[in-house]
Amino acid sequence: MANFYLDNSDLKHHLTHPLMKRLVALKERNYTDAQKYDYAPFDYEDAIDSYEKVLEIAGEICGDIVAPNAEDVDHEGPHVIDGHVQYAAGTQKNLDALVKAGLMGISLPRRYNGLNFSLVPYIMAADMVSRADAGFVNIWGLQDCAETIYEFASEEQKQRYLPRVCAGETMAMDLTEPDAGSDLQAVMLKATYSEKDGCWYLNGVKRFITNGDGHIALVLARSEEGTKDGRGLSMFIYDKNNGGVTVRRIENKMGIKGSPTCELVFRNAKAELCGDRKMGLIKYVMALMNGARLGIAAQSVGVSEAAYREALSYAQERRQFGKAIIEFPAVYEMLSLMKAKLDASRSLLYETTRFVDMYKTLEDISKESKLEKEERAEMKMYQKQADAFTPLAKGMGSEFCNQNAYDCVQIHGGSGFMKDYACERIYRDARITSIYEGTTQLQVVAAIRHVTTGTYLNMMKFYESQEISSDLIPLRNRLKTMTEIYEKIVTKVTETKDPEYIDFHARRMVEMAGHIIMGHLLLLDTTRCDSFRTSAEVYIHYGESEVTKNAKFIDQFDIEDLEFYRMK
Ligand SMILES: Cc1cc2nc3c(=O)[nH]c(=O)nc-3n(C[C@H](O)[C@H](O)[C@H](O)COP(=O)(O)OP(=O)(O)OC[C@H]3O[C@@H](n4cnc5c(N)ncnc54)[C@H](O)[C@@H]3O)c2cc1C
Repeated sequence: MANFYLDNSDLKHHLTHPLMKRLVALKERNYTDAQKYDYAPFDYEDAIDSYEKVLEIAGEICGDIVAPNAEDVDHEGPHVIDGHVQYAAGTQKNLDALVKAGLMGISLPRRYNGLNFSLVPYIMAADMVSRADAGFVNIWGLQDCAETIYEFASEEQKQRYLPRVCAGETMAMDLTEPDAGSDLQAVMLKATYSEKDGCWYLNGVKRFITNGDGHIALVLARSEEGTKDGRGLSMFIYDKNNGGVTVRRIENKMGIKGSPTCELVFRNAKAELCGDRKMGLIKYVMALMNGARLGIAAQSVGVSEAAYREALSYAQERRQFGKAIIEFPAVYEMLSLMKAKLDASRSLLYETTRFVDMYKTLEDISKESKLEKEERAEMKMYQKQADAFTPLAKGMGSEFCNQNAYDCVQIHGGSGFMKDYACERIYRDARITSIYEGTTQLQVVAAIRHVTTGTYLNMMKFYESQEISSDLIPLRNRLKTMTEIYEKIVTKVTETKDPEYIDFHARRMVEMAGHIIMGHLLLLDTTRCDSFRTSAEVYIHYGESEVTKNAKFIDQFDIEDLEFYRMK
């Protein structure tokens, strides 16, 4: 009997972060819902108590059902039957268990049958489901799309679709096409309005669509004939009950094999416009993808957790040269760094989630009543921080997830290369996290403006001003030195005003910012709970060497050196 919530005290630590008190009060409109719904919390403690109860149930399902099913699901995978997807038997059981436990639409408002939970416990559930089976979280986690319907669809559409999601219907996000991957402006799936029928019809092909046969899909399509860029694209809602979309094939993938990645054919598929015409890419996909990126950041942390646990238990059991391999410095170094990267990326994940939740909740309140001046300023601040931290959490979290999966196999030696151990699957599953929802390179494209405009630097200064345990001051001083190095190198690069040169060093600068920010977050964690101390020490050592290395590379690099790198 495993419980993925109760066996991981780090989760409760993040659930009870000091900002949660204000966040939950905003979410619950000062607990006024308690008068309307008997299951709504009446104060902060009551809300946290119900979050915990639900997380305990999710943790139990993850430990007792989803994780034990993962290996069979990986072997069996989904199938296409008559143009539609049939999940592997284990996938269906996982989904049934989560739906039965009421774990769909948990962050949606109560008036649509949701639980009105903060995003934090929702992301925490995604973190646990990913640890259990990284492929399955895609199917369950696509409920993120409901947030986009909630934000941008009409009230009538919300009333029709959102209760269905809460009742267990699954979703899909249909953006990618053969010639439109990272560059979604190139989407060509055609949307035509029929005056006669008073509705839109979609025609064309989408590829690489996760859970492409889900009940409700958000589809990006070209509604403005003759256009070629993002301004001709609109967002549509496709309801599978209306028919018109078939699954041509399911991709044969390296990992996350339980998750059906579909090629879809749209033939006069009836669809309805979501929000305003022409705003599909510019506004709605950006919001949709930011939510999905947070989901992949959670998936990355969950897979990192699984990799770390597998590696630790193997290293404790496996003996060579008369002792457990965990006693060799080369092995314990790998393990401690795995744990430090895991803790650092999890801290960044929940910090980002709180920022996203704060601004979205304030934005939601602003639709009901005018915000006070201070609240408007607060909303803007959190929105900026969410924009800056989301690509960092996804980009660095997914790279750490890959590194941890690699080290997990390494610690298993030859056995790690065999199908007999979970680490082989974890290694394959991890690989996708740095590719979909925007590759790491595209996360850098989104993050670099926060390097050049100073958002990350301001956040470093903010963290420097926070109270921490006095014995952690020497570690903070090292972070301050790293910040000075970062600031100097950013100035040097941006002063060139050469966009190609800035792009060339962008990843190095973004990662420097990430290391410093994660170092600060671990110090704040350690101040609240001493169990993070080791990770803080190890991570700051590691971050220091990465920051110095990147700074040295940039410092010794002349603009003319770009010539050696340009490939034809
Ligand atoms: C398993 C799986 C599931 C998926 N699920 C979905 C889904 O549910 N819905 C959906 O719509 N899509 C989905 N996708 C598509 C996914 O989001 C894209 O594959 C991804 O965004 C990359 O696009 P691409 O494959 O066309 O690669 P490309 O865009 O061709 O990129 C190739 C390489 O070029 C680099 N590159 C491209 N542009 C730039 C740039 N401007 N700067 C720097 N580097 C750049 C990339 O980083 C990458 O290394 C899925 C893909 C996979 C593999």
